[in-house]
Amino acid sequence: MNFRSTRGTESVSLDDAILRGIAPDGGLYMPENLQKFGIEDFADARTIQDVAGIYLGPYFQDSYLATESDNIIGETYGFPIPVVELRSAAGYVGMLELHHGPTAAFKDVGAAFLAACISRLDGENDQPLTILVATSGDTGGAVAAAFDSRPGVRVVVLYPDGRVSKRQAHQLTCWSDNVLSLAVQGSFDDCQALVKSAFSDPKLAAAYRFSSANSINIGRLLPQSIYYADASLRHFRTHARELSFVVPTGNLGNALACILARESGLPIGKIVLATNANRMIADYLAGAPWEVRDTVPTLASAMDVGNPSNMERLRSLLGDAKSLNHIVSATAVTDSEIELSIRAVFEQQTMAICPHTATAMHVYQQFDESERQAHDWAIVSTAHPAKFESIVEPIVQQELPLPPALLQIMTRPSKFTHMRPTLPALQAQLDGFLSSDAK
Ligand SMILES: *Cc1c(COP(=O)(O)O)cnc(C)c1O
Repeated sequence: MNFRSTRGTESVSLDDAILRGIAPDGGLYMPENLQKFGIEDFADARTIQDVAGIYLGPYFQDSYLATESDNIIGETYGFPIPVVELRSAAGYVGMLELHHGPTAAFKDVGAAFLAACISRLDGENDQPLTILVATSGDTGGAVAAAFDSRPGVRVVVLYPDGRVSKRQAHQLTCWSDNVLSLAVQGSFDDCQALVKSAFSDPKLAAAYRFSSANSINIGRLLPQSIYYADASLRHFRTHARELSFVVPTGNLGNALACILARESGLPIGKIVLATNANRMIADYLAGAPWEVRDTVPTLASAMDVGNPSNMERLRSLLGDAKSLNHIVSATAVTDSEIELSIRAVFEQQTMAICPHTATAMHVYQQFDESERQAHDWAIVSTAHPAKFESIVEPIVQQELPLPPALLQIMTRPSKFTHMRPTLPALQAQLDGFLSSDAK
């Protein structure tokens, strides 16, 4: 199946959509058609890899990657993604745990898939590919981990200096020589804008073969639908009911993947988006005009996004706010509600959650009893709480043990460069980085 820009009509294979990242017209790639499934199509699927093989099969069709799809899927879904049932006084509620990967956040899934694809697509090219990635914290770590030491690919990570946790910063800066980590004196939106202008600068684009690993890359988005497909299918088999999701939302990549899975026919009920105080999605769905805003820094910093780029995809798929309201709802959550939620969940479940997951928990906790009874709910846990120890530990008044993957990362040395948020500054860094090793 081919992919088409949200702004144009030219259609390209999965290979090209992944390598380009963003379409030449500035739009974002979407499948030309969504493949529709029935639950029976997955009757023989026993593992998440089986589900991925069936769901992603049509998207691999007619691509160079098709012959490698089993290996790519094997490399992507290599860690457990369980739904853990929580104690509940009313109705079913579980936690979809997406934080068991190499950098303990859900972005490991998309990054692993993307790296598995790109490394196979680019094997024979002389000039290395440069992956430019703007990150509000978790993306950069996941992408750097996924590409670390892969030959023929270099990664340049731009993150907002001082706006990521200490442990996050370490995960952005502890990789091999094919990764350059830039601490940008600005916000995540500044980082994202810089990446966009580098991509659309003809001179730069000619000098470096750029590709993107942000959630604008379709290679990040597609594989994220699989854990929603797998969780909802397993739930349906056991309980004969659809599973509804509350999704912590920033750039809208994770939530869009859930929406795509439901639009494709998977047994998914309601989809509720939880944002932090960067509330434009909630306001837009409530009738306000769509507008880009300055980012407000919050405790859920990986969701500090003032201009969620996947909104363009969502609107091209489903239309304006009026039609979107039939498909999703959204609620904005304040920092003090995040803190309350972390405390409440720790008291009720003896379970620590990260500040992002806490936005979704808070939205769920605000449901009235009939809403909790009417649907089976899964709260999406997007990161391990130990990644955000400086926020979570004082609230639960306990030290949080690091999961093994993070323990291993913390033993690696860290290196990074400060940078002003301008294109010339970025160009100077790229020049220095790429000349630093004659490939
Ligand atoms: C990136 C991230 C989010 C937001 O996901 P989007 O796809 O940008 O909406 C939420 N939680 C964590 C921990 C993240 O890293």
